[in-house]
Formats: sequence, structure tokens, C-alpha cells
Amino acid sequence: MAIDPDSLRERFGSDPEALIADNLAEVRGRIEAACARAGRPTGSVRLLPISKTVPEPVLRIAYALGLDELGENKVQEAKAKAEAMADLAIRWTVVGHLQRNKAKEVARFASEFQALDSLGVAKALHERLLAEDREIDVLIQVNTSGEATKFGLAPDEVEAFLDALPAYPRLRPRGFMTLALFSPDAARVRPCFERLRSLRDHLSGQTPAGLLPELSMGMSGDYKMAIEEGATVVRVGQGIFGRRPGSDAHYWPGLIPG
Ligand SMILES: *Cc1c(COP(=O)(O)O)cnc(C)c1O
Repeated sequence: MAIDPDSLRERFGSDPEALIADNLAEVRGRIEAACARAGRPTGSVRLLPISKTVPEPVLRIAYALGLDELGENKVQEAKAKAEAMADLAIRWTVVGHLQRNKAKEVARFASEFQALDSLGVAKALHERLLAEDREIDVLIQVNTSGEATKFGLAPDEVEAFLDALPAYPRLRPRGFMTLALFSPDAARVRPCFERLRSLRDHLSGQTPAGLLPELSMGMSGDYKMAIEEGATVVRVGQGIFGRRPGSDAHYWPGLIPG
């Protein structure tokens, strides 16, 4: 896929390496500060760079700067990039909703899937992983905002879901993921993060302790708050790669632009 240098320059400027290095330093600094405020060790938060819409040449630059794990929302886009950059040791995570017929692709290239929200997908993934003789880390997506347009299990469905998961041993459950309400109003966003943490804490009391520790929550606009609420993984795209042009409606169904 040829990429027009002018459009690259328009989006990433004349020195993408400096842009990404600066952004990364800033994001890491903010993570560190948020951890300090919350009385948590810095190493307790993993920064997962989200690379959707970012083209291969820029991701190669990011890799050279040390970003060796990337998250993508769409399977097709992730797969194309994983194939194009098979020469690099990148660990790929799929963070967006999966349709069963795409399980085959995910089983091939992804090391982690953060949007598990149905037993149908769990079964399809497990079968494909068996065929590939692979395993995958999974996070269970929980709908903490109550919005009908968001994917994810309702909080009160999660316990039964976890009980059923051992039937698919190629999946390694690690914890939970959520997309908070998209709102500039922190007072409405924070409860989504609190809900995921308290759900995990509640369920940790029932399963062997520490089995499902991960909380993937927080994006460019709200990761500091998510860290205060206990995030162990933050998914940051625009904070690292700069503003995404166009609408995100393709990636987030139900998103109301503006
Ligand atoms: C795009 C995306 C992100 C990152 O959003 P930014 O605003 O770029 O930080 C996080 N999680 C999911 C599921 C995404 O699709």
C-alpha cells in the first residue's frame, strides 16, 4: 500500500520521530504523575499504544523508538499491519468488538484480545486457537456506562460468564476492559471506572485471588482519571500519535460526533 508523503506530512509533520518521542515522553510523565498522586508504583500501569489509522511508516518509526506492542480496533486493519510488519517483533492486541467470522484471523496474529463479550466469540476463538496451536490473553469487556450502543457484558452478567469460560482453555482470562462514557463531564465518566474496579474486586473475592487483576480503562482523554481509579492498562492513541483525522464512528458504533 503506497502512502502519499504529503498526506503523511500533513498529519504527522516534517519530523514524525520527534513528534512521537515528545508525545510519548509527555504521556509517560503524566502516567507517572497520576500514579504518584494515587500512591501507586509507576510500573503498575502498562501503556498500550493504540495505532488505528496510523500508517506503517509511522509505526516503524514508533517501533524504533521502543513501541513494540500495539493495539488495534479493527481486525482487518490489524491483520494487514501485522503482515506488513512481520519483520518486527510487535505484540498485537485487538481492542475492538469481534465478529465470530473474524476469530480465525485473530487466532493467527494477536497475542491479546480485550473485547471478549460473548461465549459465541469465546468458542470460535478457542477452536481457531486450537487449530493454530496458540493461546491468547483475554480481557472481558464490560459495559459500565449502560449505553445501549456500547458493546460489553452488563456488570451482572460477568460472574456467570466467568464460570463458563474454563470450557475454552486456549483463552487466558486476565481481567476486564471498559470504554467509559464519552463525555467532557468527569463526574459522569469516573463512575464507569469505579464500576469496573469494584466489579473486579468483588469477583476476585470469589476466584483464587489475583487471577483476574487487569483493568484496561482510560484513553487519551481520561487515562489520568482511570489510573486514579485503578487502571492497570491504559489505551492511548491520539496522545501518542496526534489527533486522528475524521470521525471515529467507524470504530465506535453509536458515537455521536461532536
Ligand atoms: C481508539 C481506541 C482507543 C484510543 O483512543 P484515543 O482517543 O486515540 O486515545 C482506546 N480504546 C479503544 C477500544 C479504541 O478503539
